[in-house]
Amino acid sequence: MPIIDTHCHYNLEPLYSGQPFCFKIKADDPLTKLRWQDHWQAAQKKGVQKSIIVGPGLSSSKKALEIAATDKNLYASVGIHPERTNKIINLAQAKLELASLAQNDRVVAIGETGLDYFYLQTNDQEEITKTKLRQKELFIDQIKLAVKLRLPLILHVRDKEEKAYYETLKIIEQYWAFDRALIFHCVSGPLDYVKKALEYKNSYFGFDGNITFQKAENIRTIFKLVQKTDPQKILLETDAPYLAPEPYRGQVCEPQMITVLANYLEKNCQANLLAIYQNSLCAFKLA
Ligand SMILES: [Zn+2]
Repeated sequence: MPIIDTHCHYNLEPLYSGQPFCFKIKADDPLTKLRWQDHWQAAQKKGVQKSIIVGPGLSSSKKALEIAATDKNLYASVGIHPERTNKIINLAQAKLELASLAQNDRVVAIGETGLDYFYLQTNDQEEITKTKLRQKELFIDQIKLAVKLRLPLILHVRDKEEKAYYETLKIIEQYWAFDRALIFHCVSGPLDYVKKALEYKNSYFGFDGNITFQKAENIRTIFKLVQKTDPQKILLETDAPYLAPEPYRGQVCEPQMITVLANYLEKNCQANLLAIYQNSLCAFKLA
């Protein structure tokens, strides 16, 4: 079964060069011996035909371009993740750099960008307000960049409450052109939000390994809703090295694990994998 991984991070550790990074990998873990090329090969053996490598920051976006330059079936998305906002000292400079990276002909999308209020500290209101404003500024800038270059936009939205979800829709409705794919990556959030997003022209919904988690009933409900309303909008993603599906939850997600997700969706949610493959080609205009 041909598969396209529409959101993965060969550009992040430990996939990129076997460095432990934030996962608790011991020095003698076999993963430390592997490089992104090994993971890509393993994924291809499992039927992955194409992958989109997403940049959550400027340096990882550069790595995504470097990787995508080596194989015509690897593509890059360049962007700045909302959680990285506070690590950026000079926003204006970062915007310019991103715009310049986006000129590369291996770029098929802008992102991941959006709003993420999930880990915001609650004790310092002033700091929270500042962070949210910076997130919004970078988000709007990336929307404008994608509109200008007529590229798809990959959204990352997360919140413990409903706020970030509805604020995202408000910003999208104000700035997005709706003439290219708008991808709700690793979709989550209230059902009314998803229903609204489903009404948008060219919207897509990315599903990841977390749909297999026991307590992820909400994501399974979202999947069923999209499947019932507009199955042409379903995409498969790993978000590797994050979100390994069951039974690998908590471990490093290797891109080849997308078959675990695909099999799960086929068996438990009656997903049509061939149709999803076509959706991915269509969303990113891949040949
Ligand atoms: Zn990601």
